[in-house]
Amino acid sequence: MRAVATEHPAIPPHPVEGYAGTSSSGFAAEVAAERAIAQLDYVEDLYRDWNDGHRTSGGAASRVNAEFDRIRRELGDLPGIIASPARLRIMLQHLTKTLHPGVLNDCFYQPSTALCAKRAKHAGRPLPLLTMCLTCPNARRSSVHLPRLTTARAQAQRPLDAPAGLSRLQTAALTTHIADLDHAIAELTATGTPDA
Ligand code: SF4
Repeated sequence: MRAVATEHPAIPPHPVEGYAGTSSSGFAAEVAAERAIAQLDYVEDLYRDWNDGHRTSGGAASRVNAEFDRIRRELGDLPGIIASPARLRIMLQHLTKTLHPGVLNDCFYQPSTALCAKRAKHAGRPLPLLTMCLTCPNARRSSVHLPRLTTARAQAQRPLDAPAGLSRLQTAALTTHIADLDHAIAELTATGTPDA
């Protein structure tokens, strides 16, 4: 699987967000086209990773994996074998519409179940995400996220190993965060056949 970062490094910034003032030129359209290709590359990587039998987890895993399963049956792919890469890319296209690649998980955004949207609506303003994605129904984790989850876990543990100066609230927040990360790591490293 190709390596990815917070926002997939090969995915150029959204033309409006990343290149202010260029929307009247053809440059913005070019960037948007490159971004669309990079998104599709990323979804194809996710499909191949899943089709190779690697584990996934997160609230959106069963939804996305069910879609992968439907595509696999329709294309006649076998585990580890892609019958038609060109047709596969066409069939994966729609998933790029809601996909937001992330560091500790990807987000397959659905407004009705988005924890971040619910919290923002409740408070009437955007709220910090903190670790909300870890427990959101829209999150999906795969093997690309595993080393980052492990690194995040080690970073969260470090202050607890030398807790001088940590408040009780900080300690509690770190402890909860570590428990969430442990759960996420365990889901991706469990033995046995992954669920579809
Ligand atoms: S909280 Fe959920 S919907 Fe919001 S960014 Fe994270 S995974 Fe996506």
